[in-house]
Order: sequence, then C-alpha cells, then structure tokens
Amino acid sequence: MRIVIKLGTSTLAHSTGLLNIKRVEHLCKVVSDLKNAGHEIVMVSSGAIGMGLGKLGYVDRPDDIPTKQAAAAIGQCELMYVYDKLFSEYNHTVAQILMTGAYVTIEDYGKNLNNTLYRLLELGVIPIINENDTVTTDEIVIGDNDTLGAIIAKTVKADLLVLLSDIDGLYTGDPNTNPDAKRIDVVEEVTEEIESLAKGKGTVLGTGGMITKLNAAKMMMDCGIEMVIANGKNPDILYDIIEGGGICTRFVRR
Ligand code: GLU
Repeated sequence: MRIVIKLGTSTLAHSTGLLNIKRVEHLCKVVSDLKNAGHEIVMVSSGAIGMGLGKLGYVDRPDDIPTKQAAAAIGQCELMYVYDKLFSEYNHTVAQILMTGAYVTIEDYGKNLNNTLYRLLELGVIPIINENDTVTTDEIVIGDNDTLGAIIAKTVKADLLVLLSDIDGLYTGDPNTNPDAKRIDVVEEVTEEIESLAKGKGTVLGTGGMITKLNAAKMMMDCGIEMVIANGKNPDILYDIIEGGGICTRFVRR
C-alpha cells in the first residue's frame, strides 16, 4: 500500500512544544517496520513552528508572523535532524520537501514536485513534507497540514491518508466535555450534519482542528482515496489501521 501519514504537532511534541522523544522514537520504529513489510510511506509532518517555539521558550503561540516564521526555521531543522537520526537506526533514508501553495497553482512547480516525489519513492526513500512556513505569505499559503496531507495523497495517488492527531476520531460531541459523545466509526459521505460536528481549532501549538480534517476527507473522497483520523499517542495503531481496523474514524472510498 502507498500510505501518506500526517503527524500533528500534538503527536510529536509535548504541550511545552518540546519533542516527545518516546513517541517519536516509537513512531519511527513502526513506520520503518511498515516500510520493511513493503508499504510505501510518505510523511507530512507538522511541528516546525511548535518545536521552534518550544526551543525559544514560548508557552503560547505568538500572533506575529515573523516570530512564527523564525520559529518554523528553527523547528524544521530539529524535526529533520530527529527523523534522519531515528530512521537511520533502521536503515531508512529520509528526504525533506518544503512546499507552498505555489506548487498547487503553478503547473511547472507541481510537475517538478510530482517527479521528485515519485523518484524518491522509487529510490525507497521516505519523503517528509511540511509547508515552507518561513517564506509563505497570504497568497501562497496552504495553511494547514491536513490540507497539505490531502494534496500530497492526491499527488502520489495514495491508497490511504492517515491523519494522526490527539483525538481518536470524529465524535458526535466534544468528548472532553460531553460524556455522551460517541466516536463515529465510518463516514460514507461528509454531509452537512457531519460537518456540523466539527467545531473549533486544534491545540495551542498546532494549526488544524476537525474542520480542516473534514475538508481533507472531502478532497480524498472525491478522488477515491480512503482517509482515517486516529490518535497518534500510540503509533502501533498504524498496524491496525492498515488492516482496516483500529480505534479511528474511517472515511471510506466512494
Ligand atoms: N506547518 C506547520 C508546522 O510545521 C503546521 C501546520 C499544521 O499543523 O497544520 O508547525
């Protein structure tokens, strides 16, 4: 299977913004094992801004763009350093790709990206993609990595997009405040009713939330790619998801 795995900041970092070493080590081990089993993996990794802010000692996300862009420049280095180091332990090679919306709107950029991604997969490499937050402006911003994950899944014609976050899936209410909220196992269509379940933003250090995940789901369903929202706190869940199970919400292929 060709699988795109999107990792949210909440999966990669503690609430301090600093790296969740235990989890990221576990994640790289599972992804390496899946690769060894013959799957092709592309990762879309958030965490640059969150980790940069953590390194700089910020507790809250600042509003000003230059600080966020500086944090992204700092955190992206750390992210790739960690991935390179951990995947090397299992003999896997990673490649960094930093994207902007220009790759979606400008045909030649898109073609180059395509060629690079396919070549990396042929070479057996794990591409690790993030938005190039240091240079993005309003005109070229993609804005969140759920959308970026969907764009990449479409580009590589993936079989499956997995969005790993800090929630087990889509709920009928907010599970943190409503004990009756139930997780929805399978979604066959993103109806208005389903959309009305997605409210609010993601975590303090991240960007996404359920709205961006449902938008990604719509994109995936339109192009016949299955998508899963699951909790990244135990990366072993990836084994179950690939086999069609696991505690998650699955947006089935139409
Ligand atoms: N590109 C952002 C980062 O690396 C994350 C965006 C998102 O999580 O949606 O911090």
